[in-house]
Amino acid sequence: MTVRVRFAPSPTGHLHVGNVRTALYNWLFARQKKGTFILRVEDTDLARSERRFEEQLMEDLRWLSLVWTEGVDVEGEHGPYRQTERFDLYREYAERLLNEGKAYHCFCSAQELEQERQRQLAAGQPLRYSGKCRIVPPRKARRRVQEGEKAVLRMKVRVGTVAFEDIVFGPLHIECSEIGDFVLLRSDGSAQYNFACVVDDTLMEITAVIRGEGHISNTYRQLLLYEAFGFKPPHFAHLSTILGKDGSKLSKRHGATSIDEFRQQGYLPVALVNYLALLGWAPRKEGREILTLEQLIAEFDLSRVHRSPATFDWEKLNWVNRSHLKKLDRSHLTELVTPYLQGRAWIPSEPSPEIKHWIGDVIEAVFKYLNKLEDVLRDAELIFDFSPEKNLSETHVQEVLSADGAVEVIREFHTRVQQHQSLDLEAYKGIIAEVKEATGQKGKNLFHPVRVALTAQSSGPELDKLVCIFEQGSRLELPVKILGVKERVQAVVEHL
Ligand code: GLU
Repeated sequence: MTVRVRFAPSPTGHLHVGNVRTALYNWLFARQKKGTFILRVEDTDLARSERRFEEQLMEDLRWLSLVWTEGVDVEGEHGPYRQTERFDLYREYAERLLNEGKAYHCFCSAQELEQERQRQLAAGQPLRYSGKCRIVPPRKARRRVQEGEKAVLRMKVRVGTVAFEDIVFGPLHIECSEIGDFVLLRSDGSAQYNFACVVDDTLMEITAVIRGEGHISNTYRQLLLYEAFGFKPPHFAHLSTILGKDGSKLSKRHGATSIDEFRQQGYLPVALVNYLALLGWAPRKEGREILTLEQLIAEFDLSRVHRSPATFDWEKLNWVNRSHLKKLDRSHLTELVTPYLQGRAWIPSEPSPEIKHWIGDVIEAVFKYLNKLEDVLRDAELIFDFSPEKNLSETHVQEVLSADGAVEVIREFHTRVQQHQSLDLEAYKGIIAEVKEATGQKGKNLFHPVRVALTAQSSGPELDKLVCIFEQGSRLELPVKILGVKERVQAVVEHL
């Protein structure tokens, strides 16, 4: 049997980490089994669904390479793939259940339902519809509907138990008495999620439903529907919830940002996919966690997905991202980082080959510190936006300056630097040797003050690299003036 799976988001907001992991597991499973990955848009909640969210989610999925071969935008044999375009179909299937006495019209008003709810709450009973309208004779009910009375269509939930074998959670069951007669069609004729989902999963020939754990209670209802229709249900795999490090459900508070924000911060799509794949699954070979898409497809195993909640860990994501960044060559990295520098107007919109080469040097110098591309703005600030007045007052810098002989090193360094017209690496090394000689300082007592003299900071990229970057940068035509070594040291001395 060919595998057919679907990702079925509701376009009521941005895709978040949980949704994307669901999409990813579906996609990996489909790719591995050479099956079909379908995108179905569940937009039955007319008040909350928006086209812009649908467009954004498609863009996000494409950016992550989680492309679908059937579904919204690409179409296919089982369309349409937007639920609002399938309402006639749902009504047809609803009619079938109604005719077979498996569903019934319910005329209870919102007010009556609310009173019932309050009574149940007060009595400490579970909240579920009492089934009051079950006794309305079907013919009478139809007449009332034809005469214009508002009614929803409810499922006549049977007695007994509903049970199924979940691929992740194992055997699960519930007593039907815990499920009230749930709504299939609203009074405006639109379909409720559970009903539309069963009709669609059946007509789209879905073989496995992979979705969040929060849907287990829906799965029971859906199984009752499969049974009522006489349809064969798909397999189900529910994915555990993703928690924040503090153990609470992942939310904005944990920085659980939209996919677009991850992109803006400079997480590579392959790294994000790699990290999300590890949220609930681990490769067979321990310790082999940095994987390409192809490797993920080959190694992913739905039956090895954990049922315990996964924890979203920014540090691990950063590590995964760094590991993928390390695989990029200099020119690719330069291409990816350039827009961030342009965003600050630090470099021109169309950099010359010479500038591009210099940016490559800048990136090489700061690369060690980058978890994500955006970090370049923080780490390259000392190159583009040198501000001794701000940085010299920082505690770490003050500590360096207060060490014995530190200021002397800076002054000696300054004096010698001023004697040079321009500096290259050789000249700089010569100066360092002279300062060492003159002050008797060496090791960190020599280099920490020199770092402060050059950068007004107490730590950062290798000084040899920085010296070359400052000097070359000062000769380039850039939107901001890059200070050369002499000007930097001068500025620092003035602020001491
Ligand atoms: N529209 C539902 C959601 O976004 C889909 C659930 C399902 O996969 O059946 O949660």
